[in-house]
Amino acid sequence: MAELLMLGQRLRHFRVAKGLTLDQLGGRVGIAPSQLSMIENGRREPRLSVLEQLAAALDVRLADLLDETPPTERAALEVELERLQQGPLYRQLGLPDIRVTRSMPQETLEALVGLHRELARRSRDAIATPEEARRANTELREHMRGEDNHIAEIEEIASRMLRDVGHTTGALTHRSVSVMAERLGFELIYVSTLPHSTRSVTDLEHGRIYLPPASIPGGHGLRSMALQAMAHRVLEHSEPADYAEFLRQRLEINYFAAACLMPLEQSVTFLKARRQHRDIAVEDFRDAFGVTHEAAALRFTNLATTHLGMTVHFLRAGDDGAVYKAYENDGLRLPVDVTGSTEGQFVCRHWAARRAFDRTTRTTEFYQYTDTPEGTFWDSAQIGSASTGEFSITVGVPFADAKWFRGRETTVREVSRCPDVSCCKRPPAQLAERWKGKAWSSAKLHAHILSPLPSGTFPGVDDQELYEFLEAHAPR
Ligand SMILES: [Zn+2]
Repeated sequence: MAELLMLGQRLRHFRVAKGLTLDQLGGRVGIAPSQLSMIENGRREPRLSVLEQLAAALDVRLADLLDETPPTERAALEVELERLQQGPLYRQLGLPDIRVTRSMPQETLEALVGLHRELARRSRDAIATPEEARRANTELREHMRGEDNHIAEIEEIASRMLRDVGHTTGALTHRSVSVMAERLGFELIYVSTLPHSTRSVTDLEHGRIYLPPASIPGGHGLRSMALQAMAHRVLEHSEPADYAEFLRQRLEINYFAAACLMPLEQSVTFLKARRQHRDIAVEDFRDAFGVTHEAAALRFTNLATTHLGMTVHFLRAGDDGAVYKAYENDGLRLPVDVTGSTEGQFVCRHWAARRAFDRTTRTTEFYQYTDTPEGTFWDSAQIGSASTGEFSITVGVPFADAKWFRGRETTVREVSRCPDVSCCKRPPAQLAERWKGKAWSSAKLHAHILSPLPSGTFPGVDDQELYEFLEAHAPR
């Protein structure tokens, strides 16, 4: 279809260039002007022999007629409009086709093509619907499960870069992060007025990474953010084509930052030493490398299976039990919806991720054994708080591996029968009978369930604000 349109355009172009009318050219090759017109409009496919005669009559090569390049800018627009009108997007609207004629004013043609392009762009963006985003998220989690949450290539890159700046032990300093940036040709600049829709901005032309000012100088967040910004360059990311790629890139930059802050070799040495003393604790791992509890817990899942030989699970859950983030390769049955997505689903009331909230002391980890239909698991949970409320970070292992951890001697033991609804998803019969139909409550909207999903266009950066920022801060 598109090829016929282009052929027609090229045919007309050469005919007009030769100063021939439809009648004249038709006469030379022995076909009716009406037939020739239909060929030029892409509505009829000419036989090869006819094409050869036409090429000869126009004094061009057959290849010139069959070339896919639009002969003029105008022709390109005409073909694009025809193509877009035939496309499924426009067909669905049930609107009439507009005949593209040579008398159509250039601006009408440009306006129509512009509208069609915008329609296509918007519908592409709309593909990042919550369903699509959830599916992409689930696929990525399943992929990482297959890899034991480990990415060897990123570990290698991070290790090499750390060696290059002479980092050998302990927490990665802010100074080392700056030197790493310099080696990549970037300068870290702290500004108080980043565009609202961004966490950091990278000016590739001038080699600058703009970051928010340090609320806690040298804090984990800032080093992490700088490393994430550098990661896009180090891992050679280009603009993500879809939501799945956007998620994968985000995972990779987080992974890179974690692999720098908690380097492979030092982390594994640290954890193996703790294992020897049967005293592994995420809180110690966190403190040894100066990171957040969540970062240390996630990093532990990167290394536990490939380097310590144990399967694990990780959960970040809200105080209502809703999952924000989860990972498992040890058989723990995460709550999932029909699509297999776990974000926003509620974990069993008997799991450590929820029982930890009942405790009044929250400065140390909470330990618990849980008997589930999938076996017995041991968990350590830590409560934290964010602007969205309190949350728990859980790291757990199957019963057999509990012996390596601090807190293995806990006497707290719960039984979970989920997903059996009689476990905790249904109120006790007596209470139900007492209160059914006698009360009414107003539900809270779970903002965090929607928050990991993109709103409107993705990645959701306001270009105008971004470019104005870059312009204002660029070196002169
Ligand atoms: Zn339950």
